[in-house]
Amino acid sequence: MTRQRGQLAPKKYLWHKIFLVFNMLFMLAISGNSQAASKQLLILHDSSGPYGYLGKEYAIMLRNLLGHFDANITILPAKSYTQGMVDQQDATFYLGSTYNEASYLTAGTQERINYDTFVSDAATTSQSIAWINYNLFKVAWEWDPAWGTNTFYEKMGYWFYGTKNNNYNRVKYKNVELHKGVISWVNPGANLTGCFAEGGKAYACSPELNAIVVTDPNKVEIKATAYSTLNIGSTEEPYITRSGNFWYIGDMPFTYFSEEDRYLAFADILHDIIDSGITQQPLQAIVRFEDVSAGVDTESLNAVMSYLDSEDVPFAVAAIPVYKDPKGVQSEGKPTSIRMANSEVANTIMPYYKKGLVSMIAHGYTHQSGNLDNPYNALSGDDFEFYRVTLNDDYSLNFLGGVPGDSKEWAKDRMTKAKQELNSAEFEAFAWEAPHYFATEEDYLGIKDVYSTHYGRMIYTNNEGPSGRFVGQFFPYVIQSDFYGYRQIPENLGNIEPEPFLGYRPLFPADLIRHAEKMSVVRDSVASFFYHPYLGTEYLSEVVQGLKGLGYQFIAPCTLGDSCPTPVNDEDNGANNSGDSNGYDDWQWYVDWYNDWNNSWYTGCNSDCGNGWYNGWYSDWYYGYDYSWYGRSSIQTHASTGRLNGYHSNFYGSTPENQQSNSNNAQGSSNEGGGGSTDGWWLLMALPFARYKYLKQKVS
Ligand SMILES: [Zn+2]
Repeated sequence: MTRQRGQLAPKKYLWHKIFLVFNMLFMLAISGNSQAASKQLLILHDSSGPYGYLGKEYAIMLRNLLGHFDANITILPAKSYTQGMVDQQDATFYLGSTYNEASYLTAGTQERINYDTFVSDAATTSQSIAWINYNLFKVAWEWDPAWGTNTFYEKMGYWFYGTKNNNYNRVKYKNVELHKGVISWVNPGANLTGCFAEGGKAYACSPELNAIVVTDPNKVEIKATAYSTLNIGSTEEPYITRSGNFWYIGDMPFTYFSEEDRYLAFADILHDIIDSGITQQPLQAIVRFEDVSAGVDTESLNAVMSYLDSEDVPFAVAAIPVYKDPKGVQSEGKPTSIRMANSEVANTIMPYYKKGLVSMIAHGYTHQSGNLDNPYNALSGDDFEFYRVTLNDDYSLNFLGGVPGDSKEWAKDRMTKAKQELNSAEFEAFAWEAPHYFATEEDYLGIKDVYSTHYGRMIYTNNEGPSGRFVGQFFPYVIQSDFYGYRQIPENLGNIEPEPFLGYRPLFPADLIRHAEKMSVVRDSVASFFYHPYLGTEYLSEVVQGLKGLGYQFIAPCTLGDSCPTPVNDEDNGANNSGDSNGYDDWQWYVDWYNDWNNSWYTGCNSDCGNGWYNGWYSDWYYGYDYSWYGRSSIQTHASTGRLNGYHSNFYGSTPENQQSNSNNAQGSSNEGGGGSTDGWWLLMALPFARYKYLKQKVS
């Protein structure tokens, strides 16, 4: 009886093939981009007046979006502009965040001259200019005939009306209705100055529009419009327009943006402004299981993973490497700490991981901060790890900055430990995710040495603004390199929250599906949500089916990173077992066996349980001498008696030390076996990965 290697391990090769396909898709995406040279992009921002610091904050957010592209990006205050710069760019963006910036710059000063020079260059350049929000009057109303035409509108085909406030709270783009600066749900502590109630918990907070009036429709493309659902009878007005190389965006798309905002239209139109060459892509989605520590319930965890497996949906697992409950919140006051390695949770994830379904992420190290209520209870998953946060009576939060001892090195060391712990559990994370999406700039920069890919939303600090300020941002698409130098895997749909904290926004499947519908206006967006496994499969299946119904295809999150860690059962990857401390895990997964009939080794089988040679994940083995199957526990029994020595059998104990000593037996036994002491029986062996390498060396 002869068995072919391919027959014994069909699944393994199937997965291998699927990963090749993933890699090929990824390479296609890369080669598509690499044909275009890097874009030179300039961001100019306002910086004057009492809120001058906002200019830099918006510049950071724009810079992040532009990091989606292969681009060299420069950020400058407009008052630092020097003549001719716009001509050296593929595109220049001007963020008019201070009304009448020029009036803050004293006439005759170098700063004022620089600003005016920019206005003049913007009016005359043939390179792309995108003018955002205020101060278009500097070009339109103070037009200089020396700029080529007698008037602004002769050149542009529209004139500038000025800033209007008609409660503009919606934008239409690609025939999809988007919010224009609407807070969908007012959380505790929200500042509603200047906002208008929409009903329910929604408030329109960016009601202004810098309006234009089109005089020559042949010259002006209206890409998006703004209108009001609050002022009945108000008209629909141009919001994003293009006239030749000159783009105008009628407000600041970073104010009060959320998941279904005109921010998405702006993020998409960047492709046209810089001429990215990227057209509408197939709709892609990713899903992530959140806060998976060794303390979570394995039954519900297995249920949600098994559901996605049945739907052929790969997924990310945001793992908390060490579960901490120093105050015994979940264990009757008894302080608890559980490592991921050797945990039931790790064993529950492992089969899916081996199948290549899991994109592992390091979700902090402990997702809490020592014994500190930060802000709730010091419990993993509840508290912040990389930011000091306190709680007010109305459940609003105070974000105070770094935790005690915060530094670049401290953060790096912490996430290095996180990585080591996941490695001990035989997982390799391709990215990290800041707990509750919060970390200080120091933390982000330190941790980048450990994980250069971040998965989720971010906060960014503008060091030129008032201390303690930061801006939060989500991304509709992958950012190749953000303000901090990270690759960003987006999360932009939110998560299911059926029973949020008092006063906070509940989110149901219909909300996430609606967000995904809006997200699809971005031509190469990745719709991305996360999910807490304890919520069960019902909500999850609603979202998955809803997104599939919209035409979304789920992809493995790690394919959006630098690379997917190769599944450990891939023959070519010996590195995964470095730091191996867990004999059980090893021999559970790897089954090699020797065929005496044709004197050859068969290696790497792990899922071909149906044909009877071994059973399931526990690597039972068949012993030719007594015609019996031995289960996992009996391997150890026999290992200790040495009964299998002298045959083509290997066996392992539960500790690395045992494995080490047994390797001598393995070698000896195969020598003896070579002497012909077997009777043509099939001896099946459970091998740890390290041993697997050893065997490969021996037989090749
Ligand atoms: Zn979390």
